[in-house]
Amino acid sequence: MEFRVLGSFGGDSPECRMTSFLIDGAVAIDAGAITRALTIPEQRAIRHVVITHTHMDHTASLPFLIENIFGANEEPVSIYCTEKVLAGVRRHLFNNDTWPDFSRIPNRLYPSLRFESIDPESPFVITGLAGGDLEITAIPVHHVVPTTGLLLRQADRSTVFTSDTGPTRRIWEVANSAPDLTAVITECSFPNRLQDVADVSLHLTPQSLASELAKLTRRVPVHLYHFKPPYVDELRAELEVTDLPHPVAELRQDETYHL
Ligand SMILES: [Zn+2]
Ligand SMILES: [Zn+2]
Repeated sequence: MEFRVLGSFGGDSPECRMTSFLIDGAVAIDAGAITRALTIPEQRAIRHVVITHTHMDHTASLPFLIENIFGANEEPVSIYCTEKVLAGVRRHLFNNDTWPDFSRIPNRLYPSLRFESIDPESPFVITGLAGGDLEITAIPVHHVVPTTGLLLRQADRSTVFTSDTGPTRRIWEVANSAPDLTAVITECSFPNRLQDVADVSLHLTPQSLASELAKLTRRVPVHLYHFKPPYVDELRAELEVTDLPHPVAELRQDETYHL
């Protein structure tokens, strides 16, 4: 799959865009900074958005994306997330208070966006993509709000994206049992000296990342995202000297990977 990194960070600064990825030009995974990374025509090519959780670094650009693509297509944009995440998206983002409810605009019969609730561990398929059908399975992870990682499978290749998580178990089992696993994308947010902050916010530091990666029994490339902007240099230096069970590489913003 063609996997373009629109934003790979867990916060916002001029150099660091918030978490958002684009598959085959048409499927967005999280929406932290889509409208800051793509031109309007590129935004209008997005037909599906998968949201892993409600935190703003994963959803902030969704209201502006929907506004920018309003009226450009006859079919509404599909927003996929679990029931629990969907409740938060409706309550906090499209509540006619912080932003209009585009699931009823221009009217209830022809809305601009359609919410599709997905069940954990139950794969669904998006068709019509350049790289072939994309099968997506949401896997619950351990974060401070309901959050799912994703198993992304296309053309007999699978990538596991853990989304934001503290120590967790199930998604590593899923990664280990995916016969066609080709890559893992997981998080690292804070330096080791802020382990207590990472623990209460359910994120990883280089040392807790080492414990998590010990659960991965497969030899595949591991990419890291979600560095918090104030600690980017510190994290890079710390990761360089951390003894990890797998080699890791930073998921580079603005790069397109072929996973
Ligand atoms: Zn985040
Ligand atoms: Zn989060």
